[in-house]
Amino acid sequence: MSAKKRIIGAVLTVGLVAAGVTVFQVRAALGPALDVPAICSVKPQAGWLIQNVSVFDSRSGRVYEHLDVYFDAQVGPEIISVGPTGSLPPNGATVVDGRGRTVLPGFVNAHVHALLPVGAPWSPVFPSAAYNLDAWLAAGITTVFDLGGPSANLGALAVQLESGALLGPHLLHGDTLITVPDSHPLPAGRAVLPWPLGMLAANSMYVVDDKASARDAVARIAATGAPWTKSIVDELPTGSPSMSRAILGEVLTRTREAGMRSVVHVGDEEDAKLAVEADLQAHMVYRGALRESTIHAIAALDTRVVPTVYAFQSSENLAAGTWSSSEWDRALHPRSLLAPLEGEAGAAIRDVPVIGAFAQELQNHSMHWDRTLQSMNELGVTLLVGTDAPLPGVLPGSAYHNEIDRMASAYIPMATILQGATFEAAKFVEEPITFGAVESGLRADLLLVRGNPIVEPQAVHRIEAVFLSGRRIERDPSRLP
Ligand SMILES: [Zn+2]
Repeated sequence: MSAKKRIIGAVLTVGLVAAGVTVFQVRAALGPALDVPAICSVKPQAGWLIQNVSVFDSRSGRVYEHLDVYFDAQVGPEIISVGPTGSLPPNGATVVDGRGRTVLPGFVNAHVHALLPVGAPWSPVFPSAAYNLDAWLAAGITTVFDLGGPSANLGALAVQLESGALLGPHLLHGDTLITVPDSHPLPAGRAVLPWPLGMLAANSMYVVDDKASARDAVARIAATGAPWTKSIVDELPTGSPSMSRAILGEVLTRTREAGMRSVVHVGDEEDAKLAVEADLQAHMVYRGALRESTIHAIAALDTRVVPTVYAFQSSENLAAGTWSSSEWDRALHPRSLLAPLEGEAGAAIRDVPVIGAFAQELQNHSMHWDRTLQSMNELGVTLLVGTDAPLPGVLPGSAYHNEIDRMASAYIPMATILQGATFEAAKFVEEPITFGAVESGLRADLLLVRGNPIVEPQAVHRIEAVFLSGRRIERDPSRLP
């Protein structure tokens, strides 16, 4: 970079940061926004009585038959009652025939970045936050955990969602990431974001270099009211700096003292061992294998893991020129978003600095992923379902269904996956839970699927109705699988 460019960049950076502008907003303003109508809408409506339906009990992982589920958003957002078929009077509610169908709690995506407008860096189309939220809801995701974005902007978005000004899942969020100088995601951010936005990336994170600055970062995050901190322990690219044991230890201790939960991004076995006392590991170990002794330690400390295995699979497939869209991808997203990813077009990822090398390296590691997933499940690690969307090839909404399929292909039982998609995620943020199970008194965020997904896994993709806080979401049928 020339000295002149560097100076202009520095001036721009200072100016934009002073104006309270984050890298997320600036990037969104650069590319053409995706100009497609929303899939989801909502109309005024009476209550709902779903009769003679099977219900997935997300606490036990079992399905119970011949039940009625009743809720009415005019009374409140919670489920009013669940009882044996015929035991609940219609009370003026719209009656839905539940025969041959199953009610599940709405899905929780335990790892997203709602404000991130990242399409594929080699494609000019960049989705907006509203686009992401609409796609998530259309796919049956009624709650998202944002694991890294500016608290003020995410808070404003959450207020719009709860007031109904914007339609989308409930948004739980913390603040931006804690990392160390030149560590992930700074090199990748500089590579993916056009100059000078990459330089801005560091200003939208907590970059700490000793215990004192780590302590300060945690205090500032706690002051935003965030439920968790998110730290990065990974070498991406390989050989780049990674957070030390001393700094991570300080972050974890101070986070616990502040009454928050700790989320840590890990890359390999060493990272997972360092972060074994975190409450949540935001990815599975994707570089190399994970030893059973470490998995035992993760399970013993009740550290949850969000594998995001599809995100790694997707990057590997892009680099190999073999990425292909799923049925859900094609239903929810326009060609302009999919075409740059499919087949040889997606191999353009190889030319993206940092990300390209990362994606190509994954083919040396992907042979371990199924075993890592299986061992974690067998040894009692709680796996949550999350996607890290949006990333190149990891599109909002559809990627969640792809993640369920990818976990199922590693022989994780569907009942276990669905518990990780609902109850276990809710339990991570609060006990007793207020969502994540089909029970009276809990929020009526519900899905009605055709068939029984425990017996027939494909049923999980056949979502006939989505209810958010007791209201049925109208979804454009031409944009559904
Ligand atoms: Zn992430």
